[in-house]
Amino acid sequence: MTLRELKAGESAVIASVGGEGATRQHFLDMGVIPGTEVTLIKFAPMGDPMELRVHDYELTLRLSEAEQIGIRNSGSEPAIEESGSKKISEKKTEKKSGKHHHHHPGLGEGGIFHEKATEKKLPEGTLLTFALAGNQNSGKTTLFNQLTGSNQHVGNFPGVTVDRKSGAIKGKPNTEVVDLPGIYSLSPYTDEEIVSRQYIIGEKPKGIINIVDATNIERNLYLTMQLIELDVPMVLALNMMDEVRGNGGSIKINEMEELLGIPVVPISAAKNEGVDELISHALHVAKYQESPGKKDFCDESDHGGAVHRCLHGIMHLIEDHAKRADIPVRFAANKIIEGDSRVIDILDLSQNEKEMIEHIIIQMEEERGLDRSAAIADMRFSFIDKLVKETVVKTEVSRERERSEKIDKILTGKFTAIPAFILIMGLVFWLTFNVVGAWLQGLLESGIDFLSGKVEALLVASDVNEVVHSLIIDGIFNGVGSVISFLPIIIILFFFLSLLEDTGYMARIAFVMDRPLRKIGLSGRSIVPMLVGFGCSVPGVMSSRTLPSERDRKLTVMLIPFMSCTAKLPIYGFFIAAFFPGRGALIMIGLYLLGILMGIVVALISKATALRGEAVPFVMELPNYRMPGARNVLQLLWEKAKDFLMKAFTIIFVATIVIWFLRSFTLGLGLAVDAGDSILAKLAGIIAPIFKPMGFGDWRIATALITGFIAKESVVSTLSVLFGSTDALVAAISTAAAGALLIFCLLYTPCVAAIASIKRELGRRWALRIVLIQCAVAWIVSFAAYGILSMIL
Ligand code: GDP
Ligand code: MG
Repeated sequence: MTLRELKAGESAVIASVGGEGATRQHFLDMGVIPGTEVTLIKFAPMGDPMELRVHDYELTLRLSEAEQIGIRNSGSEPAIEESGSKKISEKKTEKKSGKHHHHHPGLGEGGIFHEKATEKKLPEGTLLTFALAGNQNSGKTTLFNQLTGSNQHVGNFPGVTVDRKSGAIKGKPNTEVVDLPGIYSLSPYTDEEIVSRQYIIGEKPKGIINIVDATNIERNLYLTMQLIELDVPMVLALNMMDEVRGNGGSIKINEMEELLGIPVVPISAAKNEGVDELISHALHVAKYQESPGKKDFCDESDHGGAVHRCLHGIMHLIEDHAKRADIPVRFAANKIIEGDSRVIDILDLSQNEKEMIEHIIIQMEEERGLDRSAAIADMRFSFIDKLVKETVVKTEVSRERERSEKIDKILTGKFTAIPAFILIMGLVFWLTFNVVGAWLQGLLESGIDFLSGKVEALLVASDVNEVVHSLIIDGIFNGVGSVISFLPIIIILFFFLSLLEDTGYMARIAFVMDRPLRKIGLSGRSIVPMLVGFGCSVPGVMSSRTLPSERDRKLTVMLIPFMSCTAKLPIYGFFIAAFFPGRGALIMIGLYLLGILMGIVVALISKATALRGEAVPFVMELPNYRMPGARNVLQLLWEKAKDFLMKAFTIIFVATIVIWFLRSFTLGLGLAVDAGDSILAKLAGIIAPIFKPMGFGDWRIATALITGFIAKESVVSTLSVLFGSTDALVAAISTAAAGALLIFCLLYTPCVAAIASIKRELGRRWALRIVLIQCAVAWIVSFAAYGILSMIL
């Protein structure tokens, strides 16, 4: 029987996990391991994917993935074999008895800091770098903002478009915290996971701060165990303790420290509780380079110790190689067993060694009765299970979970999910574009106008050169100003998006919308950037950053410009008034649908050609709903605003000046008195024949299209200036040509600001490729439309 056949509300025990490679590893890393109990909570409203509860948290899984997971009835066998599993703490004291008792490397616990004899204190003045690592939704952003205050730098990890945020700890000079992306494991499954382990192994931070969601401790500790293997000084920040306590639960901190061998500090990042203590522990372990006191989590008595012997055998074999490659030996051994080719390559093992290792692993698989990856994942989760049994006092109910379940009855309910989604997104767009954003935009525009007027008066008064005057007023103020007036809309949109994200609703949207998106080769997570694209491509492209795979990101970004953005609305309005009075609604709806349709066509073609492959498996956590912290939201808005302004003043600035130059000068570099004499007009004259087949091969229209490249609204203003009146335009082109032109405007190149964002996310080549594809699609569809419209009109 497979997981797919389970009904809502039923539980079962996982018997086998199919699939292969990274996908399968990801199932295992998320806790889907033979022997684990799962409960099927519900199906998404469209029947796929499903929501499961496993290891005390909720995750999503597609039916096609569920098919690969075999199950058996819960009752038939105990979920976790208890044989020979004494309490780990007992065994530990047993083993250690007579020997020196290992004190956990805490700060000031009874005056014991660390062993003076083996002290490895870093020289004063060494920069203490910390990696902040944790699962998604564990409160990492909140803690990072608490730790660093406002002194943060945002950049990219070298070579990939994964955010790299860093900053000094407040009031502690000579420190740096690097916020690693939210990850579940150190398997090379996503860019984020690769970047994170590369950072820790390659750049060797002086310490790791591992943040763990205490309300979801089983799943969160899985990463902790892998981080400990990296043998870097580490502290564990046990976050969300306010919720644990609020529900009457508790955690035996000292016992947990003892079992894990690293300091554990209970905190509440949102309430800023325990953060100072966390900082002093982190500084301490880093300064004295106190490695985790325990790395050996494989249990000698667990299933006859098969995994334990296998791991240790391999560790002995590869010790020298690991040393030479400068990677922690236990981490290397685990990764070899899991079949991680990156690690295997770096280790540079001889054929003979590889064969020996293979024999050892096969032996282990036979003895343990599980395949290699599952055996390792199981080893980690069985340790965690025992640890949790000994140290965590769970409560019967979690108020946050109950609340989440209630909210989910509506937001992911069979009949209510989609209406709720439309309602919420509609509200977000309405508030952004009609209420708050529009108001702020108007305010900013009049501010820019005012400033521009003042500067103009000043320029006239001081009698500056005509060219300089035109550059400042027509070029900079008009060009950059019109792009900057988008800032409020982008900020407001991001404000709502970050609310949706931090509350946990975004994950639900992805859950609900996965099925339709999957048909075009994407996963549910792509819905949000695409929706935002209807507002403005720029934040749409910017928000694609959260997508888990490079392929999904590329495909999503490619689709965003097809979603008709609001800057194109003035063009539609202008043409409808001139050519199609009374048929506005029909044409608007038609244009939006055509954009979506073309997006789907392009997605399907890309899926079959350049971006082959499947969307990544949809194994995603559905966190409890939580109130977002004001500070996180503000910090994010500030970052996005900075990002956009930087773009406005670099690439957009240059582009506007280029267009201004082309529009203001003649070929002889004299000032163009008549617009028809400018270089732009001449250039437009050259490209105008391209538009002849669609019936609008007029240089004035070509000019308008070129200026539309800066900002789509300029199409209308350029047309008005060059034609002088609507009547002149109506006289110049036929109705069919006007229809074709509208379609061309809908589909042709994204504006400069959008291209700049695409370049930032995907690089120059992709930005260029997307521009070319868009233009080609626009031409073809517009040409076809002209043919059809000429016949019927
Ligand atoms: P990230 O995904 O790991 O970056 O997590 P965030 O920092 O965005 O936090 C996820 C959600 O948990 C947000 O809504 C936070 O406001 C909330 N949160 C973070 N820390 C705490 C905490 O200590 N207690 C409670 N109750 N909520 C928290
Ligand atoms: Mg975050």
